[in-house]
Amino acid sequence: MNYTTGQIAEFTEANLIGDSQIIIKNIEFDSRNIYSWTETAFIAIPTAKNSGEKYIQSAVEKGIQVIISEHQLPHVENITWIIVDDAVQFLQRFAKYHLSRFNLRTVGITGSNGKTIVKEWLYRSLFQSFVTVKSPKSFNSQLGLPLSLLQIKGQHEIGIFEVGISKPGEMKKLEDIFSPEIGILTHIGSAHSANFESEEQLINEKIVLFKDSKTIIFNGDNDAVLKLIDEHFSDRKLISYGFKERNDLSIKDGWLHSKEITVQYFGESLSIPVRQRDEATLSNALAVIAVLKELKFDNAAIVEKINLLKSVEMRLESVDGVRKNLLINDSYNLDLDSLIISYQFIKQYNKKKKTLILTDFLEGKDAGSLYQTVANLTNLQDFGTVFLIGDEITQSAHLFEAETFTFQTTEELIHSTLLNQIEDELILLKGARRFEIEKVKNHLELQKHDTVLEVNLNAILHNINVHKSLLKPETKMMAMVKAYSYGLGGYEIAEFLQHHHIDYLGVAYADEGVDLRKNGITTPVMVMNPEQHSYSSIIDYNLEPEIYSLRVLRLFNEQLIQKGIDRRYPIHLKVETGMHRLGFKQSEIPELLQTLQGMNVKVESIFSHLSSADDLLEKEFTFDQLTEFEAFSGKLILGLGYKPLRHILNSAGIATYCDYQYDMVRIGIGMVGISPVPEVSKHLLQAVAFKTVVSQISEVHVGDSVGYNRKHRPAKTTKIATVPVGYADGIPRLIGNSRGNVGIRGKLFPIVGNVCMDMMMVDIGDEPIAEGEEVVIFNENPSLSQFAIYCNTIPYEVLTSVSRRVKRIYIKK
Ligand SMILES: *Cc1c(COP(=O)(O)O)cnc(C)c1O
Repeated sequence: MNYTTGQIAEFTEANLIGDSQIIIKNIEFDSRNIYSWTETAFIAIPTAKNSGEKYIQSAVEKGIQVIISEHQLPHVENITWIIVDDAVQFLQRFAKYHLSRFNLRTVGITGSNGKTIVKEWLYRSLFQSFVTVKSPKSFNSQLGLPLSLLQIKGQHEIGIFEVGISKPGEMKKLEDIFSPEIGILTHIGSAHSANFESEEQLINEKIVLFKDSKTIIFNGDNDAVLKLIDEHFSDRKLISYGFKERNDLSIKDGWLHSKEITVQYFGESLSIPVRQRDEATLSNALAVIAVLKELKFDNAAIVEKINLLKSVEMRLESVDGVRKNLLINDSYNLDLDSLIISYQFIKQYNKKKKTLILTDFLEGKDAGSLYQTVANLTNLQDFGTVFLIGDEITQSAHLFEAETFTFQTTEELIHSTLLNQIEDELILLKGARRFEIEKVKNHLELQKHDTVLEVNLNAILHNINVHKSLLKPETKMMAMVKAYSYGLGGYEIAEFLQHHHIDYLGVAYADEGVDLRKNGITTPVMVMNPEQHSYSSIIDYNLEPEIYSLRVLRLFNEQLIQKGIDRRYPIHLKVETGMHRLGFKQSEIPELLQTLQGMNVKVESIFSHLSSADDLLEKEFTFDQLTEFEAFSGKLILGLGYKPLRHILNSAGIATYCDYQYDMVRIGIGMVGISPVPEVSKHLLQAVAFKTVVSQISEVHVGDSVGYNRKHRPAKTTKIATVPVGYADGIPRLIGNSRGNVGIRGKLFPIVGNVCMDMMMVDIGDEPIAEGEEVVIFNENPSLSQFAIYCNTIPYEVLTSVSRRVKRIYIKK
């Protein structure tokens, strides 16, 4: 979206107080998520518990200049207010208006379960063929749907949106703003039924969404759904799907044990390989197939797309447990439907013995009859042992036919020794969230590695904001996520940054960009080393190449022509100003401009890179580079006749040369918490921790030696802690023999002897440290910078050297 404050107030009949010319591109309702204060309005949404107006102050502190609210607050000054009668209704009206300006094709998904999965799968199946927009996460409510619709832009060809309701009457409001061309009704279950009198009422309410739909695709296994849709929508194109043969799209019998499943589509057969075969997954896949058919994809393409789908939100995860057990964990939610799905799911494993761990449902329904149904279902599943947790379900323990044990809390079960006796079984963990049944999973999971690289995403956001505070509000930011995000992880970081509206992402190679796209990243991505063989996938995945020579420009253009690209394709010109790595030379300007003239490309940006922004001794050289860039980019802009973005500052550059921020900056190591400028550095947080635990502690005496080649010989009796990381994990061998330290209990201890491939030894003196205690390779003490000094290198190399076998963990508040 892209409106002025005046336009917004006009379309929604709101009352504008202040400047009518401020451009608004985002609306944010959670002040904690405000990352960019330009072109963003904060909306105060009242909820049952809270008045959103409480957060106006913190939004204003973050620089927000436009507030949408039901009331103007007296003490908040210099703000443009859009005063509305009802904030949620305002968003709905605004979204309705916004949507009416575009004529993209729309898909709307409703139902009790599976909406998000079907949406994500559809997105993954479509985004290469259409410019596609979708609801973020599971934004589907009275608030979520309008926010999702507001993301639509002119270039979008298809929009896929989730629509959810929890109370009668809600769909009417949502349908008023959005009735999709293709409507999908996924599985109807009992999950939300508390607010509805009957299943029929629930279905009738949901299908209101299809008021203007041309095609309705629905799960036809449910008799009531089939009847009601036939009744109300006989004049539309109806496609039912499901397991029952009567459906237009159905799965042939025998699907549970055959290698491929056979799908019938109006009599036509289609074989599809599947990995996961629970009914929920398969019926969601059918919904996707139905849409692909409707959009006229051929069968080969459909099979290929279905084959590529991964479980998006692996609600049921299976992990290897200790003693050859297999854990199936579903601690996401607990209701009858999801219990049935789990029972379906475990059929695909052929473990002879099975154990169930099940908690109270917390449904607030008639507990007696609920647990009778649960017990009946469970008794059909041949569990050998059942563990029940909670004060409700345990009262029905007598109804369970397996050997049954009861506990009040999850801890009680863990502390009993019963779990330790289970061997070579399938253990299904099914718990309401409150019971934190994942603790049982942690207890029973086979721990492969105690070593982790922990990435604190909130610290990354904080560090970005510290750098942003040095810049003008309108300056854009590109986050460099090259080399697996400096070793921290692939799409997880990019996804987080995208969520916080980063303007651009930068990767080194096309593969990295493709990976981001495959994981749903839609932010513009610049590729710095576009290799010739990857031009085709750069274009297919809408990535933007760095063009650094005439040779590359011509080759890339040939590929554009070959692919018949008929829009001006975005490229970035890299210019040489002193780094002598990649880039055009000033002498090439005339030929470059001339060559560009005949090409169907758009120079999105002109940029260069500082060689020594972090080195104050080279300030003069840096100023030369900056001057050179000014002249070089100025000539290009003059010749082009339009103004691409200009950018030259990396993290250290932002901290030192912010007068040269131009239109955009490129942050990298600064996100991690490193800056050469003390005034900046003191505000940054360490975003990465490399940690492990002590494997063993041994006492050594004078005359003993430690490690390979007896390199360490203690001068007195001392204790040695063995730590399970070595040079194969990215700890350089050169920091052995007391050149480097690790942190335990906040103190530093020297690494003694030679570092081994997978282990190293630390002299802990007589400190009372126990086996299993945490060992910090770097975090606070030693810090990443300190650790880099031990290694005789820079933080960048330390991070990118942490081996892939070290598990990355992301923490987010
Ligand atoms: C890696 C990189 C950056 C980021 O550098 P930091 O020093 O990590 O901020 C910026 N620009 C280019 C061209 C890069 O390759």
